[in-house]
Amino acid sequence: MHSIAIFPGSFDPFTVGHADIVARGLGMFERIVIGVGVNEHKRPLQTADSRVESIARLYAGEPRVKVVAYSDLTIDLARREGADFILRGLRSVKDFEYERDIAVMNKTLSGVETVLLFTDPQYSAVSSSVVRELLAFGKDVSEFLPH
Ligand code: ADP
Repeated sequence: MHSIAIFPGSFDPFTVGHADIVARGLGMFERIVIGVGVNEHKRPLQTADSRVESIARLYAGEPRVKVVAYSDLTIDLARREGADFILRGLRSVKDFEYERDIAVMNKTLSGVETVLLFTDPQYSAVSSSVVRELLAFGKDVSEFLPH
């Protein structure tokens, strides 16, 4: 069976927590498609194209990872990419209800299953929004970003 998972997110920016989910996902799926959501209402730090470019550079040596931008539903991206799974990370109970509602909806609409991985405790406090906040105050955020 060819198992392909979409890893959807804003990735603004892509953090060590995201990289950990991808690394662990590669142990479960043959291919991972990182879907960079285009949502101009969110006023991103980096444009979707530059997010795609920097994440793709990170995985240039990993042929099992593909990076694309998308502006429609994750289930539509899954259909385009032939993916039967959506991969997401779960940091806390705050994430839980939101993830459950979307997962149930996606399964009902398309049959695509969502696989949730608990965040590695060392990354549970890392979020793109905190990194953006620190950057706005000129702090060094390199320890939260993959090399
Ligand atoms: P979204 O705006 O869709 O929540 P994010 O870019 O914030 O997009 O997150 C994408 C996915 O990565 C989500 O499933 C989120 O739970 C997960 N994630 C975010 N930060 C971490 C982290 N530190 N460790 C593990 N997973 C994370």
